[in-house]
Amino acid sequence: HTPMMQQYLALKAGHPNTLLFYRMGDFYELFYGDAEKAARLLDITLTQRGQSAGQPVIMAGVPFHSVESYLARLIKLGESVAICEQVGDPAQSKGPVERKVVRVVTPGTLTDTELLSDKSEAVLLAVHPGARTGLGLAWMSLTQGIIHLAQCDSDELPDWIARIAPGEVLYSGEVTPTFEKRLQALTAQPLPSGQRLVAVVRPAWAFDAGLGERKLLEQLQAASLAAWDAQELRDAHAAAAALLAYAEHTQGQALTHVRSLRVARSGELIDLPVTTRRNLELTHTLRGDTAPTLFSLLDVCHTGMGSRTLRTWLLEPRRERTQARERLAAIGHLRGGSPVGHWQTLRGILKGASDVERVTARTALRQVRPRELVGLTQTLARAAQLSDTLHLGLDDGADAPGLLARITADLRPPAGCAERLASAIQPEPAALVRDGGVIADGFDAELDELRGIQNNCDSFLIDLESRERARTGIANLRVQYNKVHGFYIEVTQGQVDKVPDDYRRRQTLKNAERFITPELKAFEDKALSAQERALAREKWLYERLLDELQAFIDPLTRLARAMAALDALCALAERSLTLGWCEPQFAPEPCIEIRGGRHPVVEARLQETTGGSFIANDTVLGPKVRMQIITGPNMGGKSTYMRQVAVIVLLAGMGSYVPAQSCRLGPIDAIHTRIGAADDLANAQSTFMVEMTEAAQILHAATPQSLVLMDEIGRGTSTFDGLALASGIAAHLHDKARCFTLFATHYFELTEFPASHHQAVNVHVSAVEGGGKGNIVFLHQIEPGPASRSYGIQVARLAGVPAPVVQHARHALAALEANSERHREQVDLFAPPPAAPEAEIPPVLAALAAIDPDALSPREALEQLYTLKKLAQQPS
Ligand code: ATP
Repeated sequence: HTPMMQQYLALKAGHPNTLLFYRMGDFYELFYGDAEKAARLLDITLTQRGQSAGQPVIMAGVPFHSVESYLARLIKLGESVAICEQVGDPAQSKGPVERKVVRVVTPGTLTDTELLSDKSEAVLLAVHPGARTGLGLAWMSLTQGIIHLAQCDSDELPDWIARIAPGEVLYSGEVTPTFEKRLQALTAQPLPSGQRLVAVVRPAWAFDAGLGERKLLEQLQAASLAAWDAQELRDAHAAAAALLAYAEHTQGQALTHVRSLRVARSGELIDLPVTTRRNLELTHTLRGDTAPTLFSLLDVCHTGMGSRTLRTWLLEPRRERTQARERLAAIGHLRGGSPVGHWQTLRGILKGASDVERVTARTALRQVRPRELVGLTQTLARAAQLSDTLHLGLDDGADAPGLLARITADLRPPAGCAERLASAIQPEPAALVRDGGVIADGFDAELDELRGIQNNCDSFLIDLESRERARTGIANLRVQYNKVHGFYIEVTQGQVDKVPDDYRRRQTLKNAERFITPELKAFEDKALSAQERALAREKWLYERLLDELQAFIDPLTRLARAMAALDALCALAERSLTLGWCEPQFAPEPCIEIRGGRHPVVEARLQETTGGSFIANDTVLGPKVRMQIITGPNMGGKSTYMRQVAVIVLLAGMGSYVPAQSCRLGPIDAIHTRIGAADDLANAQSTFMVEMTEAAQILHAATPQSLVLMDEIGRGTSTFDGLALASGIAAHLHDKARCFTLFATHYFELTEFPASHHQAVNVHVSAVEGGGKGNIVFLHQIEPGPASRSYGIQVARLAGVPAPVVQHARHALAALEANSERHREQVDLFAPPPAAPEAEIPPVLAALAAIDPDALSPREALEQLYTLKKLAQQPS
């Protein structure tokens, strides 16, 4: 190979599974297999140039100035890219210029503003299966700088992944094939965001619990993990070891801004399984769009970090209500104030603030751009203003809500930071440091002097021109500069004979000659070297400034979080007033009491499209009534009603006001939903299989503190099967799980359920037949008692089903109804099945069940094995 290809191949060997962007002049080049892959993915031209090792070199390249757009496309496709830059001095090097991979861009470790979405994080997750069935999880977003740890059962992995929404998951090369298969199944289907999860294998030794603990302590600058009650989470420590090592590797440096730890424990949050997130359309619609959703309705934040915070609040409500109460108190305070609410004044200041969280992370990672620092300087002034405004506002009230008091304190900018930035960076700097024009005048004497030389250039040249005109008598003589030839004196051909002896010819043109003189040459050397030195000095000064800023990272991180929380709170205050929401009350006893509840997203859409108003409905569930059997016509509003209850419970859980006139809620541990029909083709499951799998999960998980929505369960099979299953499921939820259940159904037989189940009631959505024959008007009002009919045929007619088909259906319906009247017998659907005869357990299984593998010595284990074998051979 040529020396350059040798260098390339050595670098590539360190990044075998990553596309290597090899910098050559104004391009990043890819070679061989990488080139072929990139050509395919990016639709760029594949070329062959020269030879190396006797073979033509296959390559493809992208221009360096538009690299971001290519990176964005590759990352979206789940690829990772190692960026290799020239780090040596071309003038000094004999062979190829020294090059180094300066960072690796991967889907889970993005920090570039251009590649990240404002409203969501890029998250990296590491998973480590422990000795038993447990898993250790560690995850973080590099721009957020918080490490999260958790341990969970391996069955729960899909729900954790749905909640964490990582872009990339790391796992050990030595996991069991079963686990690997499982993980691959998860990566095969897109996340609700439409993004694909990329799984990356890391060496087994990277998942070392001892190393993980040491690395965590180092990041947190702590002596023990006891303060977080995280000492025992060994599997999570092992995951953290791999997580931190990989993140550092991609950034090519230590992560000095990652200083916080949070431990997530199952049982702390209100469970929102994947199906619930999807069915309630929290952040994505069922079609996968980001609007209209509950989040898109809530998110009127002025900063990206505010939006991200709000999103986390929405997706991670706590069962324990302290945090929700604090947020509600803060919103209550922000709604007050005069003449306008505090929220309005504060939002005025927040508007235009920059994303301090990301700028701070990028400063710590030394990737921050000059203009981001100018934005930071201006935002620090806003932070001070916010803090002052809040402080004044808090003085009015007797007891300041604790959350706002903490925010007010954290918003105080660190002393000296803004001043240092303002004195160092020009008010309108160039985009990149390498272009110069970034460091402010007056910041550094040496830089000022070098710039002085450049500025004096113009007056020197004018002066030289007039002196040379006088000396030579050539009136049209001109002193000029261009990039290729440097400085020169231009004389037209007609005047060339007047040129003095000390003029040296530089270039001959058609009509003119260009010359240089010793004086001009000396000036040129000085000017050009001044320019170069000024650029180098600026780069050096910028690096020193970044060094200095490291001292401010911790307070800036706190400030960013405070500002983000304030933005989110102000957004919730604004929403509560604009949309007419009320403050929920929390009760210790089990209850869901909602007066005048509305579905906020359906309401907003109605207003936008038809200007129609939403019909508010009450919901009263408590110890005496735990289940509503909801019947009514298609299109009547059953689904909307059920979802609105779940959405209100969720909003209250996150600490937001809710779309209702009043709302009182007892403890809630989970919201489960079984709604709609979807094939899961990727996992080879039919609609009905999906339906039953989801129902099974709910039946296992629901507790008396869970809210369960069951929308038309049993629809995916024949009527009798479906009805039978629906009645069994209703009975289990009522008798065993004893959860709060909203059960919508088209099986009228189920309206008899409450007669024998005293905690269940019938309600229906009302509709009236009006006007001409077969017309139906939906009232969308929830009323007590069962509905009498489905009006399916009327709805089909409304939907435009051809008249002959409707006619046919009417006829068929009449026949079916008459027939069923004739054959109607009393069937008790809800009677518990006769007790199954106690099945005899085969002796071998009984013996197997009695064994505790962990308590056996190897010898005892062998003996047990012989016994089992003997039992298995006995005739049954
Ligand atoms: P199906 O049985 O066919 O699934 P459904 O009873 O579940 O129907 P929804 O999907 O909840 O009906 O509602 C149908 C439409 O009716 C909604 O899209 C909405 O536009 C309107 N709607 C529902 N509830 C209300 C309400 N309370 N006020 C105003 N409009 C409503």
